[in-house]
Amino acid sequence: MKKFVFFYACIAGVLVTVSIFYANKLDKNKIKENTKEEIKQEENIQLKQMKVKEIKNVIKIKISSTGEIKELKTSDYIKGVLPAEMPPEYHLEALKAQAIVARTYLYKKMQSEAHKDADICDDYAHCQAWYSLDRLYDIWKRSKGYTKEECDKYFSKVSQAVDSTENIVVTYGGKYINAYFHACSGGKTEDVSAIWGKQKIAYLKSVESKGEEDYKNYTSKVKLNISELQTKLNKDSSIKCSINIGDEEIVEILSYTNSGRVDKVRIGGVVYKAETLRTLLGLRSTNFTVNKEGEKVIFNVKGNGHGVGMSQVGANYYAEQGYTFKKIITHYYTGVDVTKIYVEGETNENEI
Ligand SMILES: [Zn+2]
Repeated sequence: MKKFVFFYACIAGVLVTVSIFYANKLDKNKIKENTKEEIKQEENIQLKQMKVKEIKNVIKIKISSTGEIKELKTSDYIKGVLPAEMPPEYHLEALKAQAIVARTYLYKKMQSEAHKDADICDDYAHCQAWYSLDRLYDIWKRSKGYTKEECDKYFSKVSQAVDSTENIVVTYGGKYINAYFHACSGGKTEDVSAIWGKQKIAYLKSVESKGEEDYKNYTSKVKLNISELQTKLNKDSSIKCSINIGDEEIVEILSYTNSGRVDKVRIGGVVYKAETLRTLLGLRSTNFTVNKEGEKVIFNVKGNGHGVGMSQVGANYYAEQGYTFKKIITHYYTGVDVTKIYVEGETNENEI
């Protein structure tokens, strides 16, 4: 009897081992299939083609702190912009979308001839942020604690995002778009006209932005006592507000934009545009509520940034859900084309 039990136990053991082996093999095949599928999907991304007079392979960048002008390969320039604007840990498709946005920004800026002696500068407030490789590695080592090998790994990911999207830009009606973007929308992006008044740009509409809740600055608070609030508001303003401490409602929200952000508020007799208030008080976004706790006014803020165009946190979420860079871009910029630019004859020349 014992022998039989042992025999059947052995058979069962073999069967379990064999089935685990095949299950693993199947899983591996499945993974292989998926990877193939992803590659196929990438090859099949249909891009609009646009002929341009010239594609500059080398550009001049002005270093704002020193005034020095550097000549750089265009692709190397984009590789210094991308990690200055988006964390390298983000999904590759999100990084590709950001690389395309950065390239579009460069070409649009070059057309506007904002700099007489250079194509662009490295000041994020004037053009777009750019880091040299040394500076980038230094920042990653200090802020993220990365080793040289980890820095190399992430820079190679950044390079892949830039190189695999070479000459790809975002256009609308055959022109480079104003490729605005921000860190986190708080669930819905903003219509450009709601933030910057007169501008009405068809592709910068409010759209849903899912999956942002895990972002570390998804919500934030700014607590100010009445005198701090008054000082900040009056600092660089010719119109002075005068807050009456006894007022029940110190900050009165007067209206909201269509995306649900605050549009106008009244404080101490002065009406402020929420976007102005965001800058004056250092709020992360105009998506906020206000309450009072004792002597303090508390702004409960959702999201990070002006909210117009692509949300980077949202782009990363959609990439994780399987969106390609093209799908991410066309989600955030309504009705645009993801376009590959070319110079006539160039492809043939290269082939020869
Ligand atoms: Zn500039």
